[in-house]
Amino acid sequence: MTILITGGAGFIGGAAVRYILKHTEYKVVNIDKLTYAGHLSSLAGVVNSSRYHFYNSDICDRDLLREVFKRHKPKAVIHMAAETHVDRSISHAEPFMTTNIMGTFVLLEATRDYLEGLSRNARNSFRFQHISTDEVFGDLKASDSMRVESSCYAPSSPYAASKASADHLVRAWGRTYNMPILISHCVNNYGPYQFPEKLIPKMIINAERGELMPLYGNGTQIRDWIYVDDHVLALMKILEQGKPGHTYNVGGHIQKTNIEVVETICDILDKLIAQKPKGIKNYRDLITFVADRPGHDHRYAIDATKIGRALGWKAKQTFESGLLKTIKWYLNNRAWWKQARSDG
Ligand code: NAD
Repeated sequence: MTILITGGAGFIGGAAVRYILKHTEYKVVNIDKLTYAGHLSSLAGVVNSSRYHFYNSDICDRDLLREVFKRHKPKAVIHMAAETHVDRSISHAEPFMTTNIMGTFVLLEATRDYLEGLSRNARNSFRFQHISTDEVFGDLKASDSMRVESSCYAPSSPYAASKASADHLVRAWGRTYNMPILISHCVNNYGPYQFPEKLIPKMIINAERGELMPLYGNGTQIRDWIYVDDHVLALMKILEQGKPGHTYNVGGHIQKTNIEVVETICDILDKLIAQKPKGIKNYRDLITFVADRPGHDHRYAIDATKIGRALGWKAKQTFESGLLKTIKWYLNNRAWWKQARSDG
């Protein structure tokens, strides 16, 4: 069976491609435009597999998508290609609208064309899996209960609004054209090969280099966290056992303030690195507060009970174990993030 993955050179897509090629028999076709966030070096261990095929292409390219469907006849699509950084969406929203909304539309249409040529059985067993985010639910107050799959959308940033739009398109194509869709909303991911503009890798790298560690506002914003490989295991469960038309929240029920996350990184680095950068006694000395992001959501929190009950999925890593693995990976893979930083 062939799975068509979009965005497979990105952070989560790369983890998914590596997992599928190492641990399953599936073939993978990866379509990735290789923006600043896409790195083929993340796939170095698996690209020589005879079960892997790569297209350096844009999901907005209708002709290319039609050609790929015709040639590879996938049994599923896992749609992860997206512009993903909230700050970039605030300064330059257009690529977010183009890729996240129009790209999803073009991909849905190419999938629909392809499904029309399949037998009823093949159509029914096909899956279009769309990867969404907890950010579509918007800002929660401390007293608000965690968001469930049926909670109302209230996106705040251009990124979140573009992802919310894509979710609506996917559900509409599911309902109107009877497409077997699956959607998952996941919390903040962290782990190896994440582009160092995101909070955790950025803070590890800044600290290690003795640079200031800038935290928005007073650092009390709350995020839910998951180790990326746990997310991939959830995606595989949803793909193989999820009910078409259903949505699944994916999270580890780990709510932390940003300051807690950054202080934990500093404390781990204090233990791991004997020789601190010049003038630094503890890594916490590098934490500095900067003007808050416009429209910054205070809290995200999702309830992942459904995926646990329905599919038996549970995150394996605790925040402490996942963070330690992540920090060690960044300390041991300087060449990867130095190259990524210079590309970005
Ligand atoms: P990422 O930014 O690391 O990677 C995105 C990938 O998509 C890159 O390889 C990029 O080259 C590719 N891409 C971008 N535009 C493209 C286009 N037009 N055509 C083809 N490829 C294109 O993102 P990520 O963190 O791996 O996120 C993957 C998905 O998961 C996204 O849809 C994101 O919204 C969602 N998500 C991410 C998180 C998180 O914490 N990282 C949490 C929840 C959901």
